[in-house]
Amino acid sequence: MKSNFREFFMQKMLIMFKPEDIDVSAKEFISTYASYMETVGIVGKGPDGYALYSSKTAPVREEHVEFFDEWVKLNDALGIHDVVGMDLYTDGWFAKDPKYQTMNDKGVKMEHQICPNRPEFWEYGAEIVKEIGAFPVNEILVFGSGFIRDQFCFCDRCRADFAPLVDQEPNRLTHQFLTENPEHHAKWHEWRSDVIHKGLEVLQAAAESSDEATGREQPLRLSIEVLLDPETGLSEGARNEYGYDYSRIGEITKNVLINLFPWSPILPTKGSNEYSELVESLYFVNEFTRRGGRASLFRWGVTTTEQLQELKTLGRDAGIDRIVTTFHYPSDYSRRRESAIGNY
Ligand SMILES: [Zn+2]
Repeated sequence: MKSNFREFFMQKMLIMFKPEDIDVSAKEFISTYASYMETVGIVGKGPDGYALYSSKTAPVREEHVEFFDEWVKLNDALGIHDVVGMDLYTDGWFAKDPKYQTMNDKGVKMEHQICPNRPEFWEYGAEIVKEIGAFPVNEILVFGSGFIRDQFCFCDRCRADFAPLVDQEPNRLTHQFLTENPEHHAKWHEWRSDVIHKGLEVLQAAAESSDEATGREQPLRLSIEVLLDPETGLSEGARNEYGYDYSRIGEITKNVLINLFPWSPILPTKGSNEYSELVESLYFVNEFTRRGGRASLFRWGVTTTEQLQELKTLGRDAGIDRIVTTFHYPSDYSRRRESAIGNY
């Protein structure tokens, strides 16, 4: 892998690193590759809920604190666009707390993601944004911003908040009850979407207060991950499954990170019907960009330049010029995939 770094950087893409990807010090790595890097990223808070910097809010992976600190400061000093990744509702540490667990209507709890309907957690996320924003970074990629699926969330709080909107008893609310009545189901989608975007507004306010606190020249950018997969109906299906509203993200943070085919390993080949469908489902990007937003294409586990070229080709066809990748899939990937496309 190591020998590929230069080749990857020369493709002018954003690679999101984990400290484990790098077997030398931050200083040695950056001084080796700085002349090839316009931008580079590092994890700030991972899906296990731990921070890699000296957080006062989240639990900390102490062994990475020094690396993180040196990494972001050196990039800033060298004028490299400095990006930090942050997992939001995908938070394994919080997901252990029964109060925050997200569950389906049968009470099956998830171990990797919490319920988004938690204003106190938005404040927690906002503190993380402010902490990362106190470093000289340009952008935060916010991963895990939606619900797991349409079948979530049926925790006590979601039941109590939503059931009155469809004149139902909270403890008698089921997914079937919602799907049987298109009006109820539409209300469910609308309500969940509202939950997600209110949370994002809190994060954006935190980013703006970090701008004031640090006096940074360009506003701290929050790029919001949205999942786009054939298993969940590409971009249109994602609205209802995960709760995204692309135009609202455009208004709130102006930046979207499209996680391409997270649950489907193979991208369709150019020329196929599936490829045309995919390009078509990315049409929303045109409107998003026209209104001043910026879209990036993201993919986990890109390790060859062939995979990269495939992404770039798609990006060109969809009008997206920014490609973001990681070398690995998330460590809890199989669990996530199972919960995202499982039968409920
Ligand atoms: Zn809930």
